[in-house]
Amino acid sequence: MSASGAVWRNWARNQAVTPVRVERPSTVAAVQRAVVAAGKVGLRVKAVGSGHSFSGIALAPGVQLDLFDLAGLIDADAASGRVTLAAGTRLFELPRLLRPYGLALANMGDVDRQTISGALSTGTHGTGGRFGGLATQVVALTLVTGDGSLLHVSETENPELLPAARIGLGALGIVVDVTVQCVPAYLLHAIEASEPLEEVLERYLDRSDRHDHFEFYWFPHTETALTKTNTRLPVTDERSPLGAVSRWVDDELLANGVYRGICALGALAPATVPRSTRLATRLSGRREFTDVSHRVFVTNRTVRFQEMEYALPRALVPAALREVRELIAARGWRISFPVEVRSAAADDVWLSTANGRDTGYIAVHRYYREDPAAYFQAVEAIMRAHGGRPHWGKMHDRDAASLRAEYPHFDDFLSVRDRLDPERRFANSYLERVLGR
Ligand SMILES: Cc1cc2nc3c(=O)[nH]c(=O)nc-3n(C[C@H](O)[C@H](O)[C@H](O)COP(=O)(O)OP(=O)(O)OC[C@H]3O[C@@H](n4cnc5c(N)ncnc54)[C@H](O)[C@@H]3O)c2cc1C
Repeated sequence: MSASGAVWRNWARNQAVTPVRVERPSTVAAVQRAVVAAGKVGLRVKAVGSGHSFSGIALAPGVQLDLFDLAGLIDADAASGRVTLAAGTRLFELPRLLRPYGLALANMGDVDRQTISGALSTGTHGTGGRFGGLATQVVALTLVTGDGSLLHVSETENPELLPAARIGLGALGIVVDVTVQCVPAYLLHAIEASEPLEEVLERYLDRSDRHDHFEFYWFPHTETALTKTNTRLPVTDERSPLGAVSRWVDDELLANGVYRGICALGALAPATVPRSTRLATRLSGRREFTDVSHRVFVTNRTVRFQEMEYALPRALVPAALREVRELIAARGWRISFPVEVRSAAADDVWLSTANGRDTGYIAVHRYYREDPAAYFQAVEAIMRAHGGRPHWGKMHDRDAASLRAEYPHFDDFLSVRDRLDPERRFANSYLERVLGR
């Protein structure tokens, strides 16, 4: 199916493009035909996932490939835990697809609207000092490369390409299937609490090491952090999920409803923000529950925002966060959105933000109706001074020259790109900025 003319916008509404043509292939052969046809008329091609990136990484001014019809389970093996998914499969579909095999993803981020390929391509991660991001769970994938041919990459076929293809930024080709190493389904015991920020910062490294999945949110203008500590349990243990009413009151009414009001009011009257954020932290009480993993990892985000996230050597996170706190106070900004802190284990994926070092993440947000530029640029300067690497799918101002210094395998990745897409069929202006020509 092919169409044209409509404006495409991302979730955050800060990126828009009108593709020359939109194609919706439902087979791998149709993806190959689309790439070859685009080449014949000199158009660039780009697959788009769920549009959940904040950066311009998914913008496709030429041919946009919408892969929602190329979705679903291709193969699953309960014994090995390996599961092959078509590229457009969305993460929220996985619990249903994996349930018959008793499997689950080893770790997840905080929403599940993304496609498996889109999430993979930007290095999407959750939290857990001993756990890697989604790309580290990928053991094989198949790409349609610049000349329309199929390339299978796995531990046994073209294994030298795996460290590049696991996080390809959409620059190496169109992913048509992904094989994920899943784990036996498990429960998470969750404790959510409101704690003094300084104490949380002092114990952040220890808690990231000790707990399976630790993260916290700091609300600017308060001295309070909301911590989330999740512990993995066998799936046979007893569940004590949040009741439907409690889940609705806490997650929908308080986290989304009240919060939308705070943000909208803050955008109109910034002076109200400090009082509102103090109120928000008071409303967020202690909760303890046990449920299947995806129901604990994932939350429903209905308040729209823009985001920048930086990966730092984990030991530097407390100092960097204190600098962000001083910055906000010094500039007198009124920031209604919390700062989120997570962690991940070191990995060997070339463009992973956690490549070669145990990592801590600091993410800053602004309500989507507010201009984030001054806040994000000043925070970015702090993160750069600490050797930070920006999330590829979130907002940042870095270019290829400055990113090369952060990634030991940057030029190795560019060599693979030269081999798989010498004509830059899959480029766009974001990739030109972060990778160069
Ligand atoms: C509310 C919200 C919450 C988020 N939470 C987290 C989080 O917890 N952790 C985190 O790390 N990130 C998070 N993100 C960021 C998000 O996970 C990433 O930006 C992710 O890449 C979005 O996936 P997508 O399917 O929407 O892909 P898109 O944004 O549509 O595309 C991303 C990239 O993938 C490429 N791509 C998509 N499909 C293919 C394909 N088949 N072949 C080749 N390239 C392809 C696109 O061309 C583009 O380069 C969040 C974003 C939002 C809006």
